[in-house]
Amino acid sequence: MLTRLGNCFATSGASRAAFLASSSIGCSKWSLTGRTPCGTSYSRHTPPAPVASIAWRPRRPPRPSCRAMRRPRPIRSRSGRSSARMVRWQIGSTITSSASPSFRRVVVATNTITLQEQLFSKDIPFMRSWLPFDFKASLLKGRANYVSLRRWNRYLNAPSRRADGSWFDDEVKFKLRMLVFLAQTQHGDRSEIKLNGFDDLFWLRAASTPDDCLAAHCENFKTQRCFYWNSRRAAQDADVIVTNHALLLADALKGGSVLPPHEHLVVDEAHQLEEAAVEALTMRVGEGELLESVDGALTWFRAAVGTPSEAVRRAAADCRQAVVELFREIRTVLGERQPEIPVRPSREEPVVIDAANRVVPDIIGLSKLAAILDERATALRRALDDAGGQLPMESNPHAERELDLFITQMQSRVDLVVHALLQPRPERLYWLGTERRSGRPLVQAAPTAAGRELQERAFAGKETVVFTSATLAVADSFAYFKRGVGLAALSTHEMVLASPFDYLSQALLCLPTDLRELTDPGFLEQVTTVVGDIADAIDGRTLVLFTSHLQLQDVAERLRVRTARSHLTVLAQNLDGTRRQLLSQFQENPHSILLGSSSFWEGIDVPGDALSCVVIVRLPFRVPSDPLQRARSASLGDPFGQLALPEAVLRLKQGFGRLIRRQSDRGAVVLMDHRIANRTYGAAFLEALPRAEVHVGHADELAPAIAQWLTRGQNVRLPSRESGLRDFPHVEA
Ligand code: SF4
Repeated sequence: MLTRLGNCFATSGASRAAFLASSSIGCSKWSLTGRTPCGTSYSRHTPPAPVASIAWRPRRPPRPSCRAMRRPRPIRSRSGRSSARMVRWQIGSTITSSASPSFRRVVVATNTITLQEQLFSKDIPFMRSWLPFDFKASLLKGRANYVSLRRWNRYLNAPSRRADGSWFDDEVKFKLRMLVFLAQTQHGDRSEIKLNGFDDLFWLRAASTPDDCLAAHCENFKTQRCFYWNSRRAAQDADVIVTNHALLLADALKGGSVLPPHEHLVVDEAHQLEEAAVEALTMRVGEGELLESVDGALTWFRAAVGTPSEAVRRAAADCRQAVVELFREIRTVLGERQPEIPVRPSREEPVVIDAANRVVPDIIGLSKLAAILDERATALRRALDDAGGQLPMESNPHAERELDLFITQMQSRVDLVVHALLQPRPERLYWLGTERRSGRPLVQAAPTAAGRELQERAFAGKETVVFTSATLAVADSFAYFKRGVGLAALSTHEMVLASPFDYLSQALLCLPTDLRELTDPGFLEQVTTVVGDIADAIDGRTLVLFTSHLQLQDVAERLRVRTARSHLTVLAQNLDGTRRQLLSQFQENPHSILLGSSSFWEGIDVPGDALSCVVIVRLPFRVPSDPLQRARSASLGDPFGQLALPEAVLRLKQGFGRLIRRQSDRGAVVLMDHRIANRTYGAAFLEALPRAEVHVGHADELAPAIAQWLTRGQNVRLPSRESGLRDFPHVEA
């Protein structure tokens, strides 16, 4: 079996007709009905953001030097860490050379800003030095990365005081730093200013947002001082645009008005595209957002017009009360619907609002409260409309438009509640849940077929779309990925590329044979013992990956007791710092044990000796109560084999991938989940992993075996993969 690092496939040629047919249907949802996705009519109010006001110019004729791209080039590979990326870029340039008679624009979308910046600052200059022609490249980040000068001015003038009237020092300091930053910056990009602690929240109050942008009506737009719109203008003439998944999806949702027209698309880190699409298409609203809409409109009115009329104040107070009562009841329903034995002790389980649930008394009660909120929001909107005559149009010609922005935003939030509880839309799943960090209740909606919407809106009409990632294929099949992004029915060109790493000599896979059951009270103590022994034996340098933060906390406490008298440091996610802080401490002080969940499974790049062992506590199956997962499962013949298993297999590959980052790296991965050995599906996990050296033995033998293997390299005698895997009856050695 070939070890894989890079997977990619492309859709092109024959599939184009199908894309175009889907495109016209998909786009009509947005543009022909004249309503926002939430159903708000445009007839009275302006659209939420008149984004169409920037006209993407037609592409200029190809420069003579670009003609070189017509010659098809072979895809070359080279050894070394960047070979996978090189191939991606080769694919990109091959597209432009072979697919069209003239140079066409290529959009490259990554998931993270880090990779976006790396592509722009390292890979593109490298391509430029290597290709026999010049091209123009532009970096286009997500909207929230840019300051909105209009929002900033409003925020600057708002008092920075706490509820008790005292100064909010952190906010005052942030504003002072922003004043210095804005006096110097050319791009208004948040990566140019260091943000700590609360600063992330403060930044959002000044960041550009589609809900609160006057676009062509804004003075900053007209005078070309708006950072966000300037970044989009800069992209107009670019041949290659590097952007992120979020902006690509925003472009798809807004009918192609965010990115310049492009014929070719390269999606890097494509394994995260489906999740990014679900996130982009998921709508949420909580008590805070609804109250913010009501209060924001009143605050603006007071500042721009003066004291609101009695009718406006009464309507706003009624609306506020309806919001508070609705969410009080939602909290009650969520509390009463929790299972006796919590699935995830740290979080409340969501309550799906489907046809069966809508006839149950507690949801009927919520529906009545939603109807009251809808009535009162309509009354407030009418009261504000009636007060429109007082608007100071002479001193502020955009006053009506600003008021419309508040009203449109409020209405779209109320619409979400109304759709969830009273008027569900087809192909949407609605549920009540809680925000992960704050635990506050939210009403949420997501498409049940995100993949199809993605295909219709993002890929339709493109000459070619290339997807690349180290983890797209399961057992050399792209079926799971293709289903997720809506390409299952299309023909695709697929490639599985060899890894640049020699895992047989670089990695040791450890499979303990005497693991406790996951529900056994002694399991976490066993994990602690194994991790502690390994860290003692190799002097820290260990990353432990969890699927549950509660288990992480438990093991962190036990490890702290165990390492209290040693020089080892325990770094636990969310307990000892943010992900970025912990990673930097881990690299600075390798005598550490780093414990992480969720985001630590991928995107962590710790090359060299600082990371020599990865311990995986459980196989990363998604929690079965996730409403979207349940809805997707319901539409499949074999939900476990088609969805849950491939998803977990890819996640495990990502976790395994944290270990070897360079050709000189060596290290061990320990799988602590007994199901790998005694469930038939365990074979799917083992077969998906790179072909590494294998050690099978008792848990208490692991630490010396790993230390010996790391010290002596390949000279140590271990059971071969073939003999070792005899203990794993489901796996072909
Ligand atoms: S155009 Fe929009 S983003 Fe730019 S400053 Fe004006 S309101 Fe803010």
